[in-house]
Amino acid sequence: MRISEARFINGDNVEVITLAEMTTRSYENIYQGNLFCPTEGCNARIVYSGGMKPHYRTWNNDNHNSGCIHEFDRLPIRRGNLTDDTMSVDIGFSRRQNALQDAMKLMDMSDEEIEEERERRANYRNNRPRQTTQAESTTSVNVVSTLSGGETTEGSVVGVRGRNLSKRYVDGISQSDIGEIRLVMGELVAIDSVDEVANLYIERNEVQVKVVLEEAFISEPSNARYLNNFGLIESYLENYIEIQFVGIGEIRRNSRTQDIELVIYQGTDFKIDGDDMMSLGQYLHDEE
Ligand SMILES: [Zn+2]
Repeated sequence: MRISEARFINGDNVEVITLAEMTTRSYENIYQGNLFCPTEGCNARIVYSGGMKPHYRTWNNDNHNSGCIHEFDRLPIRRGNLTDDTMSVDIGFSRRQNALQDAMKLMDMSDEEIEEERERRANYRNNRPRQTTQAESTTSVNVVSTLSGGETTEGSVVGVRGRNLSKRYVDGISQSDIGEIRLVMGELVAIDSVDEVANLYIERNEVQVKVVLEEAFISEPSNARYLNNFGLIESYLENYIEIQFVGIGEIRRNSRTQDIELVIYQGTDFKIDGDDMMSLGQYLHDEE
């Protein structure tokens, strides 16, 4: 969720500064270092960034309080040999879920339908209200996603765009995606179990990518319910064909095999035929 205001804490004084009120000059002279998340009691520091699209964002290494509406996940991203280096990804849970839903819809659509949807959304964008009043901008949480160009973007009516969560079909992944978080779409064609998790193989137009879940996935407490349950996907693969996979993770090149891989960190960050893998059991009953 976009941060549209910040609390300026100066001794006992607390003042709410909306984005519209902030300027680079006043930030540098007065506020820098003393801006905090607008949620009362949340100690995450806020940074202002001016320029063409002024915005507030969370200080790099600060976390929001649990339950704060601005809370986001930090995905553990491996950078070279630094295994515990992390990169903050301010793409919140509901945003990722929405993007996965969008991707599923996209995979189900014909080319004609995709074109219609693109036009519909383009019209909507063109007709939507311009810069709103300040009162409105501080309360508005109007979220707009677009499918155009394969991008999912989130923006409020204030006109400030969020970070893109780009979609890629398996065969559309390129060199420039390496090291980035991407939403990847393809057909699930195989699985091989590795201890309590598994490697998945997804494909499109004869290009195959391996989806890996590794230590970071296994050690994440919220993933506990997924561990040792990958037999569900195996059985599902035995029973169904043309299985659609969508998943959000980091694209990387395996240094040993040189193959492109999608590294997933959360069990909720991938869907199989539109479902969480733990829901697949319902399609596997009484099949004898
Ligand atoms: Zn907060």
